Amino acid sequence: MAVMYKSTRNDKDKITASQAILKGLSDDGGLFVPDNIPALDVDFETLSKMSYQQVAYEVMSRMLTDFTEDELKHCINSAYDSKFDTDVIAPLVKKAGADYLELFHGSTIAFKDMALSILPYLLVTSAKKNNVKNEIVILTATSGDTGKAALAGFADVPGTKIIVFYPKNGVSPIQEKQMVTQKGDNTSVIGIIGNFDDAQTGVKNMFNDKELAGVMDEKGYQFSSANSINIGRLVPQMVYYVYAYSRMVANGEIKAGDKINVVVPTGNFGNILAAYYAKEMGLPVAKFICASNENKVLYDFFETGVYDRNREFILTSSPSMDILISSNLERLIYRIAGDSAEKDVELMTALSTTGKYEISADMKGKLSEFYGNYASEKETADTIKRVYDAEGYIMDTHTAVAATVYEKYKEATGDTTPTVIASTASPYKFTRSVMEAIDSAYASKSDFELVDELNKLSKVKIPQAIEDIRSAKVLHDTVCDKTEMEAQVRRILGL
Ligand SMILES: *Cc1c(COP(=O)(O)O)cnc(C)c1O
Repeated sequence: MAVMYKSTRNDKDKITASQAILKGLSDDGGLFVPDNIPALDVDFETLSKMSYQQVAYEVMSRMLTDFTEDELKHCINSAYDSKFDTDVIAPLVKKAGADYLELFHGSTIAFKDMALSILPYLLVTSAKKNNVKNEIVILTATSGDTGKAALAGFADVPGTKIIVFYPKNGVSPIQEKQMVTQKGDNTSVIGIIGNFDDAQTGVKNMFNDKELAGVMDEKGYQFSSANSINIGRLVPQMVYYVYAYSRMVANGEIKAGDKINVVVPTGNFGNILAAYYAKEMGLPVAKFICASNENKVLYDFFETGVYDRNREFILTSSPSMDILISSNLERLIYRIAGDSAEKDVELMTALSTTGKYEISADMKGKLSEFYGNYASEKETADTIKRVYDAEGYIMDTHTAVAATVYEKYKEATGDTTPTVIASTASPYKFTRSVMEAIDSAYASKSDFELVDELNKLSKVKIPQAIEDIRSAKVLHDTVCDKTEMEAQVRRILGL
């Protein structure tokens, strides 16, 4: 059966998967959601013998039904290749009472690679299928990791340009260095004076600007999005939850059909939503454990049913989760409102005018599979040190937020269900925070000295992504105010 996509803010129009990937965001400001999620009619015994690429085909072919088998296999095999430093693509590592699903073995060493290494192929294929003649301009706001992963994915891809905005003072030094050294004639990277939410709002406003779209079309351009609002990112993210489960079946930790929990360090709510969609496809998940840092807007939401972004924006050691407007939550809101575009519009209008909304008791009742909690900066650092001391395993700050929240969950519930923790970044990407958590004496060392120290402690090979930036030249140095984002886009495209 075909899966069609419709906006969370409009029940009427339905478009194909490839059209939804091209558009990114609906014209009415809503996000595209599948009109049904087909059952994954392959048993887990069979899946447990498949490679990552084969599992990816099984999952993605159920969701992207207007792609042919050849098209989809071409996209999958082009994305999940030797860009990853391990054949298994996403290793499952058992440490300290949980299964860490390491999603950082791609070219930019954060989990964004899982989706952004395939998105360019999905997008170019979608453009061909729909006879798009315009050049596609990928416009992206990033809290650090999406930007680099998108730049790496789209650099020098014919028929595309990519423009990335990041908060100038809101990303780690290594994240910034990775972005501003990006090669590729079609790439632009701009720091803004503002935070991630400002960058994301600026990008959303440009997407919704009909006048700008008209001017672009005249010049042969159209926007698309590489942010996690694009279903071309969400669908590839469903894959690794199914894959992780199938590896647990393969290694005898669970039997096919047993339930697992998943813990996800959450920012924009994309990664955890992909797990939720995987459950709708048939993955046996008991609890979705949503882990936040001190920007704990989601924890408060799960506790009270009130989403309230009116609060101080805190810069933490897990910057990719420093977010107060979790865009993908809208897809869950739509679902728990009984797929009601009307209710969704009501709540999202409240969010954009007053900065908050409250869901009904009935909607809140549908969130019982979710558990939310958060980790303070100190708790996050303590977890890194505790797990290193006990196991010699060094995790990054985002993963440590998840591991901390998982401990809180176990303490609160006594639940011993086998649990997968999404490990979203390499510790090498957040070296300073990680090393200072292990020993404050590291504070006096330079970033690249710390890289070498981390290598000594962890005995994990220094990733190529880090070696590459040691000596790379800065190629992008534009900084603008958050109000000047559109002017920058017009300058870059010559509009
Ligand atoms: C993006 C990111 C997250 C948050 O993921 P969402 O899908 O936005 O919830 C967590 N950790 C790292 C390292 C990230 O890059």
